[in-house]
Amino acid sequence: MSIPQNLEERGRSAPEAHALYAPGRTPLDYGTLKAHVVRTAASLRRLGIARDDIVAVVLPNGPEMATTFLSVSAAAICAPLNPAYQADEFAFYLSDLPAKALVIASSLDSPARDVAGSGGIPIVELTWDPSDPAGLFSLEGGPAGDVEPDIQAPHQNDIALVLHTSGTTSRPKIVPLTHANLCASARHIGAALELTPADRCLNVMPLFHIHGLVAALLSSLQAGGSAVCTPGFVGASFFDWLAEFRPTWYTAVPTMHRAVLSRAAAHSATISSGVLRFIRSSSAALPRATLEELEKTFGVPVIEAYGMTEAAHQMASNPLPPRLRKPGTVGRAAGPEITVLDADGRTLPARVRGEIAIQGPNVTSGYLRNPKANTAAFTGGWLRTGDEGVLDDDGYLVILGRLKELINRGGEKISPLEVDEALMAHPAVEQALTFSAPDASLGEEVAAVVVVRRDMEVTERKLREFVGLHLAHFKVPRRVIFASSIPLGPTGKPQRTGLAERLGISFDASPRPTFIVEHVAPRSPVEEILASIWATLMRSDSPGVNENFFYAGGDSALATQFVARVRDTLSVDVSLLSFFDNPTVAGLASVVEDALAAECIAVTPDNSIDGSTGS
Ligand code: AMP
Repeated sequence: MSIPQNLEERGRSAPEAHALYAPGRTPLDYGTLKAHVVRTAASLRRLGIARDDIVAVVLPNGPEMATTFLSVSAAAICAPLNPAYQADEFAFYLSDLPAKALVIASSLDSPARDVAGSGGIPIVELTWDPSDPAGLFSLEGGPAGDVEPDIQAPHQNDIALVLHTSGTTSRPKIVPLTHANLCASARHIGAALELTPADRCLNVMPLFHIHGLVAALLSSLQAGGSAVCTPGFVGASFFDWLAEFRPTWYTAVPTMHRAVLSRAAAHSATISSGVLRFIRSSSAALPRATLEELEKTFGVPVIEAYGMTEAAHQMASNPLPPRLRKPGTVGRAAGPEITVLDADGRTLPARVRGEIAIQGPNVTSGYLRNPKANTAAFTGGWLRTGDEGVLDDDGYLVILGRLKELINRGGEKISPLEVDEALMAHPAVEQALTFSAPDASLGEEVAAVVVVRRDMEVTERKLREFVGLHLAHFKVPRRVIFASSIPLGPTGKPQRTGLAERLGISFDASPRPTFIVEHVAPRSPVEEILASIWATLMRSDSPGVNENFFYAGGDSALATQFVARVRDTLSVDVSLLSFFDNPTVAGLASVVEDALAAECIAVTPDNSIDGSTGS
């Protein structure tokens, strides 16, 4: 089976059934979706894209990202990239793939454009008309077409999707997933959740991540149901979407579930009149208290599942009632086989801790062009997950730790080695060791220890700002600690594990942007000014005050312009670092308001500045 074959079948048997919904848009039916995928696949051929070419995609979350993934994978290999990346990151990903073309929203002013331009990668502009059904778009530009439009369905062993995953080196590995892998995973998820054509998923996960692409989108389409494609998780809109679209389920990371719970009390009528069948959680550990509060608040089962890019997402899942859900476990194998191995690759019995390993039709057959990583990851046909766990006597899996060096920041995975490298690129830094620190809101947060070169000086602020110029904002260490040497473990190797505890570092629950975006209109004169600076710089509509500048396509160059304009307009000095820490209108407004208050300056509702400084 391939993704377009599934769509073809549904397009034929139920052409008028709705496939995709989106806020403010008319629904897209299966017949139109099928025709759009075929038409776009042919356009890509005419643009010179062949089946084995990799097409990078940079789009905001929404129905067009969903249909672009479906269409590009029908014609070639789709590589969705996080729009929050900085120029250096785009340069790495576009050349590492390597991308034959970049499909980008014409509305997006992203550094990916310049990077693609200077690398000679053709840019294909994607535009859509909001009055069209959700997800329809047209393409313009791209390479000169010398490939005959053939719109044959891909073979099940053709690669449909490639995603980078953080590895044991700072260089991320490329995970290729075939149509067969993706369809198998979508089927496994459908089976675990008993999905039917009557089901509708509210998707709040980013569609550049395997969780959103497979657990929310493909599983829904494979079951003949529908998905609501939102701009991402928006706490303020979540309950409106619940009331408007009446989804039967949603899937999210624990940080989002907690954000939902924080607003639930004000929406009891929406909750009680809703038709949710269950709530799903994956990609990071779900605290038992969150699970229990969700079940109590919504009165539906909460299904915790365990996923990984290499497995096209789902590996294990708790079952739906009446079968037993075991909180604190990620359920039983739900697709691939699961075992626990010792260091020598021997299978361990139940109740003995070891490395979780998987094999099955949804699992990638190996990283692209990376024999070393493949030798390390595959043992006797099993893929080692890099997670430590234990199976109980009933086959339920408990995740106990992680062998791979990775920081799981609210579901977003960060390689500490990549951050080490970014820190060490600073001339004053001799050594750096990045590690995971506990965070009450995100589960984990990024922190680093740095050794400064003799006779050189640098501040924590300068270092964080420096990293923010090169890496996406969510990778910037929240804390940098200076030390005379890098902490070593018993074997003399730098030791990240347990470092946060040794140094006493943890973070409280102050809200910070992650996968989450909040759409709230500006509420004060300062927020209005900042939103209008943003809209001018990004050539966009006025943003929601909690929208993340970097997810909206902003980069460090635009951030520099932003703070310069804030300085000119409001006569207040906001550092670039404050912006990296607060890349939202609301966050920056509070920084500006504090600075203005310190100088006793008020901003009046007509956006003029009352300069009556106190003397
Ligand atoms: P990704 O490739 O981004 O999907 O990340 C996969 C990793 O996320 C896994 O190897 C685990 O470390 C982690 N993960 C996924 N699901 C869970 C879960 N339910 N509980 C704890 N960790 C999880």
